[in-house]
Amino acid sequence: DMLKAADLAMYRAKRDGKNNYHFFSSALHAQVQERIRLEKELRSLIPTDHFLVYYQPIIDAKTLEISGAESLIRWDHPTRGVLPPSEFIGLAEEIGLIVEIDSRSRLKVCQQLSKWRKHNMVPPNFNVRINVCAQMLTDEELYNAIKIDLDKTELPGSCIGLEITESILIENFSTTAELLQQIQNYGVEISVDDFGTGYSSMAYLKALPARTLKIDRTFVQGVPENIDDSRILRAMIVFGKSLNLKIVVEGVETKEQARFCRECGADLLQGYLFSKPVSSEAFEQLLSSHNPD
Ligand code: C2E
Ligand code: CA
Ligand code: CA
Ligand code: CA
Repeated sequence: DMLKAADLAMYRAKRDGKNNYHFFSSALHAQVQERIRLEKELRSLIPTDHFLVYYQPIIDAKTLEISGAESLIRWDHPTRGVLPPSEFIGLAEEIGLIVEIDSRSRLKVCQQLSKWRKHNMVPPNFNVRINVCAQMLTDEELYNAIKIDLDKTELPGSCIGLEITESILIENFSTTAELLQQIQNYGVEISVDDFGTGYSSMAYLKALPARTLKIDRTFVQGVPENIDDSRILRAMIVFGKSLNLKIVVEGVETKEQARFCRECGADLLQGYLFSKPVSSEAFEQLLSSHNPD
């Protein structure tokens, strides 16, 4: 799309004979070059696998123990360091690589989890919630693919969860809902991610078989100082609980926010207060050193 936009802009600039054509086109040219370079890098890095899975702990609001984690991808870039998803996920989606990347990450998570369980490094009910891209949910094979990963690593379905966002569902709501139901029947817990933001709304809850609601971190930011923000967060937690959903609050950064969420009845907490997403090695450290206080 960016390429098309650049062509169009150049065409217009030429047609209109603007003096600034040179300046204009070279800036766009640089942008296009950068994109082409990133795309090439992304493609070439798939087989060599420069992607890392980071883990962020999810805390039981009652006991304050680590009860699970969310897996979050990083690109271990050879010159630019460890890049967050915002730098490459959009591009990977656009050029159709995200399904491949996510599939590899899922297997990696299962392998890691299998190892942690064998060494008794995680509690028995510990689970990892994996983000799934929209494209993945249109593939009926997802159910089999998940089963294969779990079988390979000798894990029960309950060890992993899937976090769902995005707008695709609108198109094929019933097929997607069926697929997710099938996956959840296998024990894999489905969460609605980023709840309350544009893409994840009440319509989702009605149509999807989700058992967990993840309240987006934008709803936590002003809490507890801002009274309106606090009321909204409380109402969202109460609302979710009344639908028998398990509530995860993301983006908990302060002790006051944690206390507020616990008082409102949230089940699980996630955020920088406990830890940023970290490498699997650092996560092992967290597991062994975490003590609730
Ligand atoms: P998300 O699923 O909403 O993930 C939560 C994001 O919030 C993470 O950003 C995490 O680092 C950040 N976060 C967690 N706690 C706090 C906090 O207390 N304060 C603040 N300010 N931020 C917090 P990250 O890792 O950069 O991921 C961004 C997004 O990229 C994710 O949003 C998810 O949509 C996407 N993503 C990440 N990993 C994957 C993946 O493996 N596959 C796919 N398809 N998407 C992924
Ligand atoms: Ca997520
Ligand atoms: Ca989220
Ligand atoms: Ca998000």
